[in-house]
Amino acid sequence: MIKRVVIVGAGPSGVLLAHYLLRRDEQYNVEIYERRSDPQTVPFSSARTFPLVLNQRGMTALSKVEGILAAIKAVSLESTGSLVHQKKGKTQFLPRKKPILILDRRRLVVTLLKMLTQQYSSDLRKAQQRSYRLKIHFDHQCKQVDFEAKTVTFENTAVNSIGEVTVGYDLLIGADGARSRVREQFLSTNQFELEKKYVPSAYKSIFLPAESAASLKAGYIHTWRSSDGIFATLVHDIDGLINGTVNFPRENNPIVNFSTKEQVWQFFREYLPEIAELLPESEVEAFLNRPISTILTIRCNRYHHGDSVLLIGDAAHATSPSLGQGCNASLEDVAFFDQLLDEYPNDIGEVLKQFTLRRKPDAHALVELSDYTFPLSSKLLFLELFIRLRTAQFMHQLFPRYFSPSLLQLLSETTIPYSEILNSHKGWISKVKQANEKFLERQRSPQHVRLN
Ligand SMILES: Cc1cc2nc3c(=O)[nH]c(=O)nc-3n(C[C@H](O)[C@H](O)[C@H](O)COP(=O)(O)OP(=O)(O)OC[C@H]3O[C@@H](n4cnc5c(N)ncnc54)[C@H](O)[C@@H]3O)c2cc1C
Repeated sequence: MIKRVVIVGAGPSGVLLAHYLLRRDEQYNVEIYERRSDPQTVPFSSARTFPLVLNQRGMTALSKVEGILAAIKAVSLESTGSLVHQKKGKTQFLPRKKPILILDRRRLVVTLLKMLTQQYSSDLRKAQQRSYRLKIHFDHQCKQVDFEAKTVTFENTAVNSIGEVTVGYDLLIGADGARSRVREQFLSTNQFELEKKYVPSAYKSIFLPAESAASLKAGYIHTWRSSDGIFATLVHDIDGLINGTVNFPRENNPIVNFSTKEQVWQFFREYLPEIAELLPESEVEAFLNRPISTILTIRCNRYHHGDSVLLIGDAAHATSPSLGQGCNASLEDVAFFDQLLDEYPNDIGEVLKQFTLRRKPDAHALVELSDYTFPLSSKLLFLELFIRLRTAQFMHQLFPRYFSPSLLQLLSETTIPYSEILNSHKGWISKVKQANEKFLERQRSPQHVRLN
């Protein structure tokens, strides 16, 4: 029997899942509902986007549907390493054996959507005959979910449109991100546990025109870190633009009260002087007016409800972006779900149960790794982590049979499960956890003087 699948959220995981399901002959009809407008119609400058790094995990998941990885590569820039900028113009280079892809989230989603609609276009006439296979509804915000009746209600938020629509489903996929509405409904079910935590840092996006940052080499991830828990990441995109994020402590943060351009200048000169030199006046103003974003990490004890609801991607396991793994793990979820459909072809209930059982240890390990691989203190970062990473990389290169790759290589150049990686690096993770707690305590103390 054909199943009606409703996917809430047209982010990377929701759209890739639609590709995977629709290539399974005629088994599934897919409807995607997304609260935002079609990203193909929104100008880049007003899109809420940031650069993403796709590693071996994400690329493997994308490669399983013909043509997708090639299309994503065509709109990405390859990166062969990270350049860590230190004081007085000093830099540390962390090379990569296997290149990763850099592109912004919007471009990833737009490419996935374009390919989806080209291949399974939602022809209205066919839809009326109920023989459609794909429908995408933008400007539809999920408001209510009824697990008993198997219905979801969406509010149409497009300008000049009012009203709600309620649709039925056989399978409901919550791919609606860290603040998932579908997941909220799980809270009314028996023994569902959810842990939500804010990452200690908040961020603002930053965009630089290519000409103002010509000194930054393309193809590298550029990072800066000050001793006050303030750090920035900048990368080029395929069009030559440079974008990234400036991160700062979420509590007592110096930026929240800024009201003038002079305060922005002063902040950059004090904490990120090399970026201050690249900033054009127009970006200072835009930076001042851009909203501050906070990041949630999510852990749940269950990703499914019965045989008809599943959470994937950030809705199931949002993490800190420090390792650049969240999207990769979300895409991996889709490939894993697909593998389970092959393992249990006639038993969707078992597929969902197994998804929770087998994905949870890796998802929980990822949250832990993302929180505690990088120390907040730049001393521990530069003095110990980089030495560890370089030594491991060097020894692995010389004696690959006897020395495992470095922690970062394991995370981004392999598809080894996150739980295995966490097990083999428990010592470092617990050291960073303790050091970070002390760092945050110091920051909260009233003696800690901050720029304001
Ligand atoms: C600054 C930053 C940098 C990052 N860098 C990286 C990186 O380098 N590499 C990496 O792998 N990951 C990175 N991540 C994480 C990555 O962005 C996420 O893990 C990834 O986007 C998750 O994909 P998703 O499809 O599960 O969820 P999302 O991308 O959050 O998409 C969810 C979608 O659901 C929609 N939605 C939400 N609520 C509703 C509703 N009620 N009704 C209808 N639709 C709804 C949203 O509008 C959105 O389109 C970064 C994150 C941040 C914040």
